[in-house]
Amino acid sequence: MVQKEAEGELSQLFENQLYKSISLRRSSHEERILKLKKIREWIKTHQEDIRKALWQDFNKPAPEVDLNEIFPVTSEINHAIKNLKSWMAPKKVSTPLPMIGTSAWIQVEPKGRSLIISPWNFPFNLTIGPLVSAIAAGCTAIIKPSEFSPKTSELIARLIRDLFEEDEIAVCLGEVEVSTELLKLPFDHIFFTGSPTVGKIVMKAAAQHLSSVTLELGGKSPVIIDSSADLKDAAQKIIWGKFVNCGQTCIAPDYILVHDSIKDQFIMQAKIQIQGYYDPSFNGIEKSTDYARIINLKHFQRLQNMLNDALVKGGQIAFGGKTEISSKYFEPTLIAAISSEMSVFKEEIFGPILPILTYNNLQEAIDLINSQPKPLALYFFGTNSSHSKKVMDETSSGNMVINDCVLHFLHNELPFGGVNNSGIGKAHGYHGFLAFSNEKGVLKQRVGYNNVSLLRPPYGIKAKQIISSLIKWF
Ligand code: NAD
Repeated sequence: MVQKEAEGELSQLFENQLYKSISLRRSSHEERILKLKKIREWIKTHQEDIRKALWQDFNKPAPEVDLNEIFPVTSEINHAIKNLKSWMAPKKVSTPLPMIGTSAWIQVEPKGRSLIISPWNFPFNLTIGPLVSAIAAGCTAIIKPSEFSPKTSELIARLIRDLFEEDEIAVCLGEVEVSTELLKLPFDHIFFTGSPTVGKIVMKAAAQHLSSVTLELGGKSPVIIDSSADLKDAAQKIIWGKFVNCGQTCIAPDYILVHDSIKDQFIMQAKIQIQGYYDPSFNGIEKSTDYARIINLKHFQRLQNMLNDALVKGGQIAFGGKTEISSKYFEPTLIAAISSEMSVFKEEIFGPILPILTYNNLQEAIDLINSQPKPLALYFFGTNSSHSKKVMDETSSGNMVINDCVLHFLHNELPFGGVNNSGIGKAHGYHGFLAFSNEKGVLKQRVGYNNVSLLRPPYGIKAKQIISSLIKWF
Protein backbone atom coordinates (compact mmCIF):
# COMPACT_ATOMS: atom_id res chain seq x y z
CA MET A 1 0.00 0.00 0.00
CA VAL A 2 1.40 3.38 -0.99
CA GLN A 3 0.97 5.76 1.93
CA LYS A 4 2.16 9.21 0.99
CA GLU A 5 1.10 11.55 3.69
CA ALA A 6 4.15 13.65 4.07
CA GLU A 7 3.90 16.92 2.19
CA GLY A 8 7.49 16.62 0.93
CA GLU A 9 6.91 13.17 -0.47
CA LEU A 10 3.84 14.29 -2.40
CA SER A 11 5.54 17.29 -3.94
CA GLN A 12 8.55 15.08 -4.81
CA LEU A 13 6.22 12.65 -6.55
CA PHE A 14 4.64 15.56 -8.41
CA GLU A 15 8.10 16.87 -9.40
CA ASN A 16 9.09 13.41 -10.63
CA GLN A 17 6.15 13.42 -13.04
CA LEU A 18 7.27 16.62 -14.76
CA TYR A 19 9.83 15.09 -17.11
CA LYS A 20 7.48 12.23 -17.96
CA SER A 21 4.59 14.59 -18.65
CA ILE A 22 6.73 16.49 -21.17
CA SER A 23 7.93 13.32 -22.86
CA LEU A 24 4.33 12.04 -23.11
CA ARG A 25 3.50 14.96 -25.41
CA ARG A 26 5.30 13.04 -28.14
CA SER A 27 3.63 9.69 -27.37
CA SER A 28 1.79 8.09 -30.27
CA HIS A 29 -1.73 6.70 -30.23
CA GLU A 30 -0.22 3.19 -30.44
CA GLU A 31 1.78 3.73 -27.25
CA ARG A 32 -1.24 5.06 -25.37
CA ILE A 33 -3.43 2.22 -26.65
CA LEU A 34 -0.88 -0.29 -25.38
CA LYS A 35 -1.29 1.11 -21.86
CA LEU A 36 -5.07 0.94 -22.11
CA LYS A 37 -4.87 -2.66 -23.26
CA LYS A 38 -2.68 -3.50 -20.26
CA ILE A 39 -5.32 -2.10 -17.93
CA ARG A 40 -8.03 -4.06 -19.75
CA GLU A 41 -6.00 -7.25 -19.43
CA TRP A 42 -5.36 -6.60 -15.72
CA ILE A 43 -9.09 -6.14 -15.15
CA LYS A 44 -9.82 -9.38 -16.98
CA THR A 45 -7.40 -11.38 -14.89
CA HIS A 46 -8.42 -9.71 -11.61
CA GLN A 47 -12.20 -9.60 -12.07
CA GLU A 48 -12.75 -11.81 -9.01
CA ASP A 49 -10.49 -9.55 -6.89
CA ILE A 50 -12.49 -6.50 -7.95
CA ARG A 51 -15.76 -8.20 -7.01
CA LYS A 52 -14.30 -9.28 -3.68
CA ALA A 53 -13.03 -5.80 -2.80
CA LEU A 54 -16.40 -4.22 -3.53
CA TRP A 55 -18.24 -6.88 -1.59
CA GLN A 56 -15.96 -6.21 1.38
CA ASP A 57 -16.47 -2.46 1.06
CA PHE A 58 -20.29 -2.48 1.01
CA ASN A 59 -21.70 -5.81 -0.14
CA LYS A 60 -21.96 -4.69 -3.73
CA PRO A 61 -23.49 -7.66 -5.58
CA ALA A 62 -21.16 -9.25 -8.15
CA PRO A 63 -23.51 -8.64 -11.13
CA GLU A 64 -23.64 -4.95 -10.16
CA VAL A 65 -19.84 -4.87 -9.97
CA ASP A 66 -19.60 -6.41 -13.42
CA LEU A 67 -22.24 -4.13 -14.94
CA ASN A 68 -21.59 -0.84 -13.14
CA GLU A 69 -17.91 -0.93 -12.17
CA ILE A 70 -16.16 -3.08 -14.78
CA PHE A 71 -18.24 -2.77 -17.94
CA PRO A 72 -18.22 1.08 -18.04
CA VAL A 73 -14.42 1.00 -17.75
CA THR A 74 -13.81 -1.72 -20.35
CA SER A 75 -16.32 -0.02 -22.64
CA GLU A 76 -14.51 3.30 -22.14
CA ILE A 77 -11.19 1.58 -22.94
CA ASN A 78 -12.58 -0.14 -26.05
CA HIS A 79 -14.11 3.10 -27.27
CA ALA A 80 -10.83 4.98 -26.77
CA ILE A 81 -8.82 2.24 -28.52
CA LYS A 82 -11.17 2.44 -31.50
CA ASN A 83 -11.16 6.23 -31.75
CA LEU A 84 -7.92 7.51 -30.30
CA LYS A 85 -6.11 7.90 -33.62
CA SER A 86 -8.83 10.19 -34.94
CA TRP A 87 -9.21 12.05 -31.62
CA MET A 88 -5.48 12.86 -31.67
CA ALA A 89 -5.32 13.79 -35.35
CA PRO A 90 -4.95 17.50 -36.17
CA LYS A 91 -8.35 18.86 -37.25
CA LYS A 92 -8.21 21.26 -40.17
CA VAL A 93 -10.49 24.26 -39.93
CA SER A 94 -11.91 26.24 -42.85
CA THR A 95 -10.38 29.57 -43.85
CA PRO A 96 -12.42 32.76 -43.46
CA LEU A 97 -11.91 35.26 -46.29
CA PRO A 98 -9.74 37.73 -44.34
CA MET A 99 -7.40 34.78 -43.53
CA ILE A 100 -7.00 33.76 -47.16
CA GLY A 101 -3.57 32.31 -47.85
CA THR A 102 -3.18 30.80 -44.39
CA SER A 103 -3.93 27.30 -43.22
CA ALA A 104 -5.09 26.45 -39.72
CA TRP A 105 -5.88 23.45 -37.57
CA ILE A 106 -6.59 22.34 -34.03
CA GLN A 107 -3.79 20.31 -32.51
CA VAL A 108 -4.68 18.52 -29.29
CA GLU A 109 -1.91 18.23 -26.75
CA PRO A 110 -1.94 16.64 -23.29
CA LYS A 111 -2.58 19.12 -20.51
CA GLY A 112 0.29 17.53 -18.56
CA ARG A 113 0.20 16.51 -14.93
CA SER A 114 -3.28 15.58 -13.73
CA LEU A 115 -4.85 14.83 -10.38
CA ILE A 116 -7.83 12.47 -10.11
CA ILE A 117 -9.82 12.54 -6.87
CA SER A 118 -12.59 9.95 -6.73
CA PRO A 119 -15.55 8.99 -4.50
CA TRP A 120 -16.49 5.71 -2.82
CA ASN A 121 -19.83 4.89 -4.43
CA PHE A 122 -18.51 3.47 -7.72
CA PRO A 123 -14.90 3.53 -6.59
CA PHE A 124 -13.42 1.42 -9.38
CA ASN A 125 -15.42 2.87 -12.26
CA LEU A 126 -15.06 6.50 -11.16
CA THR A 127 -11.31 6.22 -10.67
CA ILE A 128 -10.23 4.10 -13.62
CA GLY A 129 -12.77 5.69 -16.00
CA PRO A 130 -11.19 9.18 -15.76
CA LEU A 131 -7.75 7.55 -15.79
CA VAL A 132 -8.57 6.04 -19.19
CA SER A 133 -9.26 9.57 -20.47
CA ALA A 134 -6.03 10.87 -18.88
CA ILE A 135 -3.95 8.12 -20.51
CA ALA A 136 -5.70 8.57 -23.86
CA ALA A 137 -4.92 12.27 -23.70
CA GLY A 138 -1.26 11.59 -22.81
CA CYS A 139 -1.25 12.94 -19.25
CA THR A 140 0.48 11.71 -16.13
CA ALA A 141 -1.80 11.19 -13.14
CA ILE A 142 -1.78 11.12 -9.38
CA ILE A 143 -4.86 9.34 -8.09
CA LYS A 144 -6.46 9.89 -4.71
CA PRO A 145 -9.25 7.33 -4.24
CA SER A 146 -11.76 7.48 -1.41
CA GLU A 147 -10.86 6.44 2.11
CA PHE A 148 -14.42 5.14 2.56
CA SER A 149 -13.95 2.20 0.17
CA PRO A 150 -10.53 1.04 1.43
CA LYS A 151 -10.46 -2.43 -0.14
CA THR A 152 -11.17 -1.08 -3.62
CA SER A 153 -8.70 1.77 -3.10
CA GLU A 154 -5.98 -0.75 -2.19
CA LEU A 155 -6.86 -2.80 -5.25
CA ILE A 156 -6.57 0.29 -7.46
CA ALA A 157 -3.15 0.99 -5.93
CA ARG A 158 -2.15 -2.59 -6.80
CA LEU A 159 -3.37 -2.24 -10.39
CA ILE A 160 -1.36 0.93 -10.86
CA ARG A 161 1.75 -0.47 -9.15
CA ASP A 162 1.61 -3.58 -11.35
CA LEU A 163 1.38 -1.61 -14.60
CA PHE A 164 2.99 1.82 -14.24
CA GLU A 165 6.05 3.58 -12.89
CA GLU A 166 5.31 6.23 -10.27
CA ASP A 167 6.68 8.97 -12.48
CA GLU A 168 3.74 8.34 -14.81
CA ILE A 169 0.83 7.19 -12.66
CA ALA A 170 0.76 6.95 -8.89
CA VAL A 171 -1.86 6.33 -6.23
CA CYS A 172 -1.91 8.22 -2.93
CA LEU A 173 -4.05 6.51 -0.33
CA GLY A 174 -5.29 8.27 2.75
CA GLU A 175 -7.83 10.58 4.28
CA VAL A 176 -8.88 14.12 3.43
CA GLU A 177 -5.46 15.48 4.48
CA VAL A 178 -3.87 13.72 1.50
CA SER A 179 -6.30 15.48 -0.87
CA THR A 180 -5.64 18.76 0.90
CA GLU A 181 -1.88 18.39 0.41
CA LEU A 182 -2.25 17.31 -3.20
CA LEU A 183 -4.51 20.26 -3.93
CA LYS A 184 -1.68 22.64 -2.97
CA LEU A 185 0.31 21.47 -6.02
CA PRO A 186 0.10 23.23 -9.40
CA PHE A 187 -1.52 20.42 -11.41
CA ASP A 188 -2.34 21.14 -15.04
CA HIS A 189 -5.75 19.52 -14.63
CA ILE A 190 -7.82 18.30 -11.71
CA PHE A 191 -10.58 15.78 -12.32
CA PHE A 192 -12.72 15.60 -9.20
CA THR A 193 -15.77 13.40 -8.62
CA GLY A 194 -17.67 13.96 -5.38
CA SER A 195 -20.03 16.27 -3.59
CA PRO A 196 -20.74 19.91 -4.52
CA THR A 197 -19.42 20.96 -1.07
CA VAL A 198 -16.00 19.42 -1.66
CA GLY A 199 -16.16 20.49 -5.32
CA LYS A 200 -16.06 24.10 -4.12
CA ILE A 201 -12.96 23.36 -2.00
CA VAL A 202 -11.29 21.76 -5.02
CA MET A 203 -12.15 24.68 -7.29
CA LYS A 204 -10.86 27.19 -4.75
CA ALA A 205 -7.57 25.30 -4.46
CA ALA A 206 -7.32 24.99 -8.25
CA ALA A 207 -7.79 28.75 -8.58
CA GLN A 208 -4.50 29.34 -6.71
CA HIS A 209 -2.64 27.84 -9.67
CA LEU A 210 -5.30 28.42 -12.34
CA SER A 211 -5.39 24.66 -12.80
CA SER A 212 -8.27 23.64 -15.03
CA VAL A 213 -10.95 21.49 -13.42
CA THR A 214 -13.52 18.92 -14.29
CA LEU A 215 -15.99 18.70 -11.43
CA GLU A 216 -18.33 15.72 -11.53
CA LEU A 217 -20.68 16.55 -8.67
CA GLY A 218 -24.07 15.50 -7.38
CA GLY A 219 -27.41 16.97 -6.42
CA LYS A 220 -31.05 16.13 -6.70
CA SER A 221 -32.00 14.48 -10.01
CA PRO A 222 -35.78 14.67 -10.50
CA VAL A 223 -38.07 12.26 -12.34
CA ILE A 224 -41.18 13.61 -13.99
CA ILE A 225 -43.88 11.02 -14.58
CA ASP A 226 -46.29 12.47 -17.09
CA SER A 227 -49.93 11.39 -17.23
CA SER A 228 -49.09 9.78 -20.60
CA ALA A 229 -46.50 7.42 -19.05
CA ASP A 230 -46.64 3.65 -19.19
CA LEU A 231 -46.51 3.17 -15.42
CA LYS A 232 -45.30 -0.42 -15.36
CA ASP A 233 -42.44 0.40 -17.71
CA ALA A 234 -41.62 3.56 -15.73
CA ALA A 235 -41.65 1.76 -12.38
CA GLN A 236 -39.42 -1.05 -13.69
CA LYS A 237 -36.80 1.44 -14.80
CA ILE A 238 -37.06 3.94 -11.94
CA ILE A 239 -36.94 1.31 -9.18
CA TRP A 240 -33.83 -0.27 -10.67
CA GLY A 241 -32.15 3.12 -11.24
CA LYS A 242 -32.98 4.25 -7.71
CA PHE A 243 -32.10 1.16 -5.67
CA VAL A 244 -29.12 -0.21 -7.59
CA ASN A 245 -26.04 0.32 -5.37
CA CYS A 246 -28.51 0.85 -2.51
CA GLY A 247 -29.42 4.27 -3.89
CA GLN A 248 -25.84 5.53 -3.55
CA THR A 249 -25.60 6.70 -7.14
CA CYS A 250 -24.97 10.28 -8.25
CA ILE A 251 -27.50 10.00 -11.09
CA ALA A 252 -30.08 7.98 -9.15
CA PRO A 253 -33.60 9.41 -9.30
CA ASP A 254 -33.59 11.62 -6.21
CA TYR A 255 -37.31 12.39 -6.13
CA ILE A 256 -40.42 11.70 -8.16
CA LEU A 257 -42.78 14.31 -9.54
CA VAL A 258 -45.80 12.33 -10.64
CA HIS A 259 -49.02 13.67 -12.12
CA ASP A 260 -51.57 13.64 -9.30
CA SER A 261 -54.09 11.58 -11.31
CA ILE A 262 -51.74 8.57 -11.52
CA LYS A 263 -49.90 8.77 -8.20
CA ASP A 264 -51.61 5.77 -6.56
CA GLN A 265 -51.16 3.58 -9.63
CA PHE A 266 -47.46 4.51 -9.80
CA ILE A 267 -46.93 3.71 -6.12
CA MET A 268 -48.60 0.34 -6.62
CA GLN A 269 -46.36 -0.45 -9.61
CA ALA A 270 -43.29 0.74 -7.71
CA LYS A 271 -44.06 -1.60 -4.78
CA ILE A 272 -44.55 -4.53 -7.15
CA GLN A 273 -41.19 -3.85 -8.74
CA ILE A 274 -39.29 -3.55 -5.43
CA GLN A 275 -40.81 -6.79 -4.25
CA GLY A 276 -40.11 -8.51 -7.56
CA TYR A 277 -36.47 -7.38 -7.78
CA TYR A 278 -35.35 -7.88 -4.20
CA ASP A 279 -37.76 -10.28 -2.53
CA PRO A 280 -39.71 -12.37 -5.03
CA SER A 281 -40.21 -15.21 -2.50
CA PHE A 282 -41.25 -12.90 0.37
CA ASN A 283 -38.33 -13.91 2.62
CA GLY A 284 -37.40 -10.31 3.46
CA ILE A 285 -35.31 -7.93 1.33
CA GLU A 286 -32.51 -8.10 3.90
CA LYS A 287 -31.89 -11.71 2.75
CA SER A 288 -31.33 -10.65 -0.85
CA THR A 289 -27.75 -10.88 -2.09
CA ASP A 290 -28.72 -8.50 -4.89
CA TYR A 291 -29.09 -5.49 -2.61
CA ALA A 292 -26.02 -3.58 -1.36
CA ARG A 293 -25.51 -1.93 2.01
CA ILE A 294 -24.89 1.64 3.13
CA ILE A 295 -21.19 2.43 2.93
CA ASN A 296 -20.59 3.38 6.59
CA LEU A 297 -22.26 4.35 9.85
CA LYS A 298 -21.94 8.07 9.17
CA HIS A 299 -24.01 7.77 6.00
CA PHE A 300 -26.38 5.25 7.63
CA GLN A 301 -27.07 7.73 10.43
CA ARG A 302 -27.48 10.59 7.94
CA LEU A 303 -30.13 8.60 6.06
CA GLN A 304 -31.85 7.46 9.25
CA ASN A 305 -32.07 11.11 10.37
CA MET A 306 -33.48 12.08 6.97
CA LEU A 307 -36.17 9.43 7.21
CA ASN A 308 -37.05 10.36 10.81
CA ASP A 309 -37.20 14.03 9.86
CA ALA A 310 -39.65 13.26 7.03
CA LEU A 311 -41.85 11.14 9.30
CA VAL A 312 -41.92 13.73 12.09
CA LYS A 313 -42.97 16.34 9.53
CA GLY A 314 -45.91 14.33 8.20
CA GLY A 315 -44.29 12.08 5.54
CA GLN A 316 -46.00 8.73 4.99
CA ILE A 317 -44.10 5.55 4.26
CA ALA A 318 -45.62 3.89 1.21
CA PHE A 319 -43.08 1.05 1.25
CA GLY A 320 -40.09 0.01 3.35
CA GLY A 321 -38.64 2.05 6.18
CA LYS A 322 -36.97 -0.91 7.93
CA THR A 323 -33.33 -0.43 8.89
CA GLU A 324 -30.68 -2.41 10.78
CA ILE A 325 -27.69 -0.53 12.05
CA SER A 326 -25.42 -3.53 12.68
CA SER A 327 -25.46 -4.61 9.02
CA LYS A 328 -26.06 -1.08 7.67
CA TYR A 329 -29.17 -2.43 5.96
CA PHE A 330 -31.61 0.21 4.76
CA GLU A 331 -34.76 -1.05 3.10
CA PRO A 332 -35.84 0.45 -0.24
CA THR A 333 -38.21 3.13 1.01
CA LEU A 334 -40.95 5.12 -0.72
CA ILE A 335 -42.31 8.19 1.10
CA ALA A 336 -45.36 10.23 0.15
CA ALA A 337 -46.86 13.44 1.59
CA ILE A 338 -43.60 15.35 1.17
CA SER A 339 -43.29 18.97 2.25
CA SER A 340 -40.61 21.55 1.45
CA GLU A 341 -39.40 21.70 5.08
CA MET A 342 -38.19 18.10 5.01
CA SER A 343 -34.50 17.35 4.50
CA VAL A 344 -35.46 14.72 1.87
CA PHE A 345 -36.76 17.67 -0.14
CA LYS A 346 -33.82 19.99 0.53
CA GLU A 347 -30.72 17.76 0.43
CA GLU A 348 -29.30 15.21 -1.99
CA ILE A 349 -30.54 11.87 -0.61
CA PHE A 350 -27.79 9.56 -1.90
CA GLY A 351 -29.44 6.49 -0.43
CA PRO A 352 -32.50 4.23 -0.78
CA ILE A 353 -35.22 6.75 0.10
CA LEU A 354 -37.51 7.86 -2.72
CA PRO A 355 -39.83 10.81 -2.01
CA ILE A 356 -42.93 11.01 -4.17
CA LEU A 357 -44.31 14.46 -4.91
CA THR A 358 -47.27 15.26 -7.13
CA TYR A 359 -48.18 18.00 -9.59
CA ASN A 360 -51.36 18.98 -11.39
CA ASN A 361 -49.97 20.66 -14.46
CA LEU A 362 -46.59 20.30 -16.09
CA GLN A 363 -45.65 23.94 -15.56
CA GLU A 364 -45.80 23.37 -11.79
CA ALA A 365 -43.26 20.54 -12.08
CA ILE A 366 -41.01 22.66 -14.31
CA ASP A 367 -41.22 25.62 -11.94
CA LEU A 368 -40.29 23.42 -9.00
CA ILE A 369 -37.24 22.05 -10.83
CA ASN A 370 -36.21 25.55 -11.90
CA SER A 371 -36.42 26.77 -8.30
CA GLN A 372 -33.68 24.27 -7.31
CA PRO A 373 -29.98 24.08 -8.29
CA LYS A 374 -29.54 22.60 -11.78
CA PRO A 375 -29.58 18.79 -11.52
CA LEU A 376 -27.01 16.31 -12.79
CA ALA A 377 -29.73 14.37 -14.61
CA LEU A 378 -33.39 14.92 -15.34
CA TYR A 379 -35.68 12.03 -16.23
CA PHE A 380 -38.98 12.26 -18.06
CA PHE A 381 -41.39 9.36 -18.44
CA GLY A 382 -44.26 9.75 -20.87
CA THR A 383 -45.26 9.33 -24.50
CA ASN A 384 -46.50 12.90 -24.92
CA SER A 385 -43.64 14.36 -26.97
CA SER A 386 -44.80 17.96 -26.66
CA HIS A 387 -44.53 17.51 -22.88
CA SER A 388 -41.03 16.01 -23.04
CA LYS A 389 -39.98 18.82 -25.39
CA LYS A 390 -41.39 21.43 -23.04
CA VAL A 391 -39.38 19.95 -20.17
CA MET A 392 -36.27 19.78 -22.37
CA ASP A 393 -36.65 23.41 -23.48
CA GLU A 394 -37.61 24.95 -20.17
CA THR A 395 -35.22 23.26 -17.74
CA SER A 396 -31.45 22.95 -17.45
CA SER A 397 -29.62 19.78 -16.36
CA GLY A 398 -26.34 18.00 -17.09
CA ASN A 399 -28.12 15.23 -18.97
CA MET A 400 -31.73 14.43 -19.79
CA VAL A 401 -33.16 10.97 -20.38
CA ILE A 402 -36.62 10.26 -21.77
CA ASN A 403 -38.37 7.02 -20.76
CA ASP A 404 -35.41 5.59 -18.90
CA CYS A 405 -32.99 6.55 -16.19
CA VAL A 406 -29.27 6.15 -15.38
CA LEU A 407 -28.71 4.51 -18.77
CA HIS A 408 -27.02 7.55 -20.31
CA PHE A 409 -23.92 6.89 -18.17
CA LEU A 410 -23.14 3.92 -20.41
CA HIS A 411 -23.46 5.83 -23.70
CA ASN A 412 -19.88 6.75 -24.50
CA GLU A 413 -20.72 9.09 -27.38
CA LEU A 414 -22.62 11.40 -25.00
CA PRO A 415 -20.96 14.02 -22.81
CA PHE A 416 -21.55 13.05 -19.18
CA GLY A 417 -21.60 15.62 -16.41
CA GLY A 418 -23.45 18.32 -14.61
CA VAL A 419 -24.07 22.02 -14.90
CA ASN A 420 -23.11 24.58 -12.23
CA ASN A 421 -23.98 23.04 -8.85
CA SER A 422 -24.02 19.53 -10.34
CA GLY A 423 -20.71 19.94 -12.13
CA ILE A 424 -18.38 21.73 -14.50
CA GLY A 425 -16.92 20.10 -17.59
CA LYS A 426 -17.77 16.77 -19.19
CA ALA A 427 -16.50 13.20 -19.04
CA HIS A 428 -16.60 10.00 -21.14
CA GLY A 429 -15.26 9.14 -24.56
CA TYR A 430 -14.10 12.05 -26.67
CA HIS A 431 -15.41 14.51 -24.07
CA GLY A 432 -13.26 12.89 -21.38
CA PHE A 433 -10.26 12.91 -23.73
CA LEU A 434 -10.81 16.64 -24.30
CA ALA A 435 -11.04 17.29 -20.55
CA PHE A 436 -7.40 16.21 -20.22
CA SER A 437 -6.30 17.91 -23.47
CA ASN A 438 -5.48 21.42 -24.54
CA GLU A 439 -6.94 22.23 -27.93
CA LYS A 440 -4.14 24.28 -29.42
CA GLY A 441 -5.21 26.44 -32.35
CA VAL A 442 -2.40 26.56 -34.93
CA LEU A 443 -2.21 29.04 -37.81
CA LYS A 444 0.37 28.70 -40.57
CA GLN A 445 1.24 31.65 -42.78
CA ARG A 446 3.27 31.61 -45.99
CA VAL A 447 6.64 33.34 -45.82
CA GLY A 448 6.60 36.76 -47.52
CA TYR A 449 2.81 36.95 -47.43
CA ASN A 450 0.92 39.05 -44.94
CA ASN A 451 -2.83 39.42 -44.68
CA VAL A 452 -2.52 42.67 -42.76
CA SER A 453 0.35 44.37 -44.65
CA LEU A 454 -1.95 47.19 -45.78
CA LEU A 455 -3.16 47.67 -42.27
CA ARG A 456 0.11 48.61 -40.64
CA PRO A 457 1.02 52.09 -39.45
CA PRO A 458 1.13 54.73 -40.58
CA TYR A 459 -2.63 54.21 -41.05
CA GLY A 460 -3.57 55.87 -44.34
CA ILE A 461 -6.95 56.30 -45.97
CA LYS A 462 -6.67 52.85 -47.63
CA ALA A 463 -6.12 51.10 -44.30
CA LYS A 464 -9.12 52.88 -42.81
CA GLN A 465 -11.28 51.85 -45.78
CA ILE A 466 -10.20 48.21 -45.50
CA ILE A 467 -10.84 48.16 -41.76
CA SER A 468 -14.35 49.58 -42.25
CA SER A 469 -15.14 47.03 -44.92
CA LEU A 470 -13.83 44.23 -42.65
CA ILE A 471 -16.24 45.37 -39.95
CA LYS A 472 -19.04 45.71 -42.48
CA TRP A 473 -18.61 42.42 -44.35
CA PHE A 474 -16.86 39.88 -42.13
P1 NAD B 1 -16.92 13.61 -1.20
O1 NAD B 1 -16.99 14.91 -1.90
O2 NAD B 1 -17.13 13.60 0.27
O3 NAD B 1 -15.49 12.92 -1.43
C1 NAD B 1 -14.94 12.71 -2.72
C2 NAD B 1 -13.42 12.66 -2.61
O4 NAD B 1 -12.97 13.92 -2.11
C3 NAD B 1 -12.85 11.59 -1.68
O5 NAD B 1 -11.71 11.01 -2.28
C4 NAD B 1 -12.46 12.35 -0.43
O6 NAD B 1 -11.34 11.82 0.22
C5 NAD B 1 -12.12 13.73 -0.99
N1 NAD B 1 -12.42 14.79 -0.02
C6 NAD B 1 -13.39 14.80 0.93
N2 NAD B 1 -13.36 15.95 1.63
C7 NAD B 1 -12.34 16.69 1.10
C8 NAD B 1 -11.81 17.98 1.40
N3 NAD B 1 -12.31 18.71 2.38
N4 NAD B 1 -10.78 18.42 0.65
C9 NAD B 1 -10.28 17.67 -0.35
N5 NAD B 1 -10.73 16.44 -0.66
C10 NAD B 1 -11.76 15.95 0.05
O7 NAD B 1 -17.95 12.66 -1.94
P2 NAD B 1 -18.32 11.16 -1.64
O8 NAD B 1 -19.07 11.09 -0.35
O9 NAD B 1 -17.13 10.28 -1.81
O10 NAD B 1 -19.32 10.87 -2.86
C11 NAD B 1 -20.65 11.28 -2.83
C12 NAD B 1 -20.88 12.53 -3.65
O11 NAD B 1 -20.29 12.41 -4.92
C13 NAD B 1 -22.37 12.76 -3.93
O12 NAD B 1 -22.66 14.14 -3.86
C14 NAD B 1 -22.53 12.25 -5.35
O13 NAD B 1 -23.64 12.78 -6.03
C15 NAD B 1 -21.23 12.66 -5.95
N6 NAD B 1 -20.90 11.84 -7.12
C16 NAD B 1 -20.89 12.42 -8.35
C17 NAD B 1 -20.62 11.63 -9.47
C18 NAD B 1 -20.62 12.20 -10.87
O14 NAD B 1 -20.16 11.51 -11.77
N7 NAD B 1 -21.09 13.41 -11.09
C19 NAD B 1 -20.35 10.29 -9.31
C20 NAD B 1 -20.36 9.75 -8.04
C21 NAD B 1 -20.63 10.53 -6.94
